[in-house]
Amino acid sequence: MPALRNHVIALHGGAGVNPDRDYAEVEVHLAALIRRCEAMLAGGASALDTVEHAVRDLEESGLYVAGRGSAPNDQGQVECDAAIMDGARMQAGGVCALSGVASPVTAARAVLDRTPYVLLAGEGARAFAGECGLAMVRDPAAHYRLPVGVEMEETQALDSGLSHGTVGAVALDSMGRLAAATSTGGLFGKRAGRVGDTPITGIGNWADGEVAVSCTGIGEAFVYAGGARDVAARMAYGGASLGDAGQAVLDAVAHHGGDGGMIAVDKAGSVIMPFNSPGMKRAVAGSAIPDRVAIL
Ligand code: ASP
Repeated sequence: MPALRNHVIALHGGAGVNPDRDYAEVEVHLAALIRRCEAMLAGGASALDTVEHAVRDLEESGLYVAGRGSAPNDQGQVECDAAIMDGARMQAGGVCALSGVASPVTAARAVLDRTPYVLLAGEGARAFAGECGLAMVRDPAAHYRLPVGVEMEETQALDSGLSHGTVGAVALDSMGRLAAATSTGGLFGKRAGRVGDTPITGIGNWADGEVAVSCTGIGEAFVYAGGARDVAARMAYGGASLGDAGQAVLDAVAHHGGDGGMIAVDKAGSVIMPFNSPGMKRAVAGSAIPDRVAIL
């Protein structure tokens, strides 16, 4: 049996924090979740199962703009995007403009595990989730809630300030496998049918044999900047360090008029959590890294 290696988990609860609001509930939630996820990895769970578990928990909490915390689009309907990628197998799954499914990341995992595709959209994605027996949202009014730090009026108008949020997780497991998962309700006040960077493998989410990355922020700017896979490409082709590669992509996001952040872990267990937004809810833990939770 190969020697067990270093393991690491990092989480984000979205770029964009209002410094005047109280995020104590978010901090408590992230601290408990990062501890559970680190224990999963210590117990031999795969990076893929751990990032799915983490993102499903973040969705179900309703504390972030994903899953239960998603805000309605300009037609009053919640549409979610999510992606998950197994770096060891170089396989991904995603869903976009998905309504009525309780855990978008679990639907993305089903696309990865049960189809030859990387992305299912809209009604087709919902029908697929139903066929897979995934939990559906029967009563949207009872299911969805506003995340911590968000007022109803903020969810009505599209702007590039605090009006977005996403959740994500990246992990390195003790077998050296990397995985990433990301899920979002998208930008507040978005047009029905708008899809951002999150479900697009290589932009909002990426994992390969070298690095796993989950992004959050203004999705259109991440698309123009190259997104998550550009971090991997800068390392592979340009010899950049993980830190320099992540910062270069965020600089490009800013150049394209956006803001946001990312979490990333490489195969050596190095972690970065940079952002150029006003704060990013985040947490990290690992076999060689003490638990840490931060908001600003
Ligand atoms: N990236 C997401 C999107 O554009 C939003 C976010 O991360 O805050 O849909």
